[in-house]
Amino acid sequence: MSIDFGTDIYEEPIVAKTFLQEDAQEGSLRPKTLREYIGQKKAKDNLAVFIEAAKKRGESLDHVLLHGPPGLGKTTLAGIIAQEMGVNIRITSGPAIEKAGDLAALLTNLNENDILFVDEIHRLNRAVEEILYPAMEDYAIDIIIGKGPSANSIRLDLPHFTLIGATTRAGQLSAPLRDRFGVTLRLELYTPEELGGIVTRSAGILDVAIEPEGAAEIARRSRGTPRIANRMLRRVRDFAEVRADGVITRAVADEALRALEIDYLGLDPIDRRMLSAIIENYGGGPVGLETLAATIGEESVTLEDVYEPYLMQLGFLTRTPRGRCVTRKAYEHLGLSAPSGMADGSEQLSL
Ligand code: ADP
Repeated sequence: MSIDFGTDIYEEPIVAKTFLQEDAQEGSLRPKTLREYIGQKKAKDNLAVFIEAAKKRGESLDHVLLHGPPGLGKTTLAGIIAQEMGVNIRITSGPAIEKAGDLAALLTNLNENDILFVDEIHRLNRAVEEILYPAMEDYAIDIIIGKGPSANSIRLDLPHFTLIGATTRAGQLSAPLRDRFGVTLRLELYTPEELGGIVTRSAGILDVAIEPEGAAEIARRSRGTPRIANRMLRRVRDFAEVRADGVITRAVADEALRALEIDYLGLDPIDRRMLSAIIENYGGGPVGLETLAATIGEESVTLEDVYEPYLMQLGFLTRTPRGRCVTRKAYEHLGLSAPSGMADGSEQLSL
């Protein structure tokens, strides 16, 4: 049995970094409490302590910076923090705040202890960022009224609020901004067991019949990322409904994902193109990120934020000062023989 619904119904790759139409149901799948939030034990343990301490003192939580690849649960965690603190959350993003005045309007409309969540905070522009410094530090902003020699600066007090910033690239944050966060939490890629738990939970909410082996198969192939696991679940569900009485078994999950060109490790055609381009065009590397991106016709930020973390975790790819290199494991995965004396990549487990 073969089916080619991969390209017909779904135009976007399953790994896409942007919010897809099909993600509209994400809201209902988001856990609402720390207890429901699966995995990220270190981040959760730390947060639980900070939240309890802030609540005991009746104060706002310290500013929190969350970083990690897209789809790991940063927005979800911000919502949970608001819920656990019993405060409101306003959600915005770096590129959406164009002018200093936009940020001033957001800040002055907050209530005491409220949370302002800024996604992609590394994309704030300079003028806006400068307003944020005194706001974070002194809960005040300086507003300039008038123009030229008659211009006056007045200081406006703000409620004690918590800024939660999320970023895929902590390294791009300016030092003054980074230093103003009291808590920095790095989210890690999830283990297949944790993802299995997430898939099972989501299937329960979506009322999809799934066998444990079916959940495990989706989990293993969702490259450490809950958003991708949930997307896969929905696509496999469609397949199961059309072809297999609606029940997601291991065989159904395997067949559906194969039809979507997702291999048994979760690599999609872009991963494979990336690896084979390094091997075929650059002798296994090193090759610079921009050159690689141009070779395969993808954006360099997408390769860096979305594709590389998982390839590095698998030990298929390494970043060196001179560029990206593939490892012996990558050759083997693509069914090619590696040049002799090549590193096997097993030392490359960190992101
Ligand atoms: P990010 O903001 O990091 O891009 P999101 O918070 O939007 O990621 O998470 C994407 C989706 O993944 C959410 O809709 C949520 O359903 C799911 N998700 C993320 N983290 C978890 C988790 N720890 N447990 C269960 N579901 C999760």
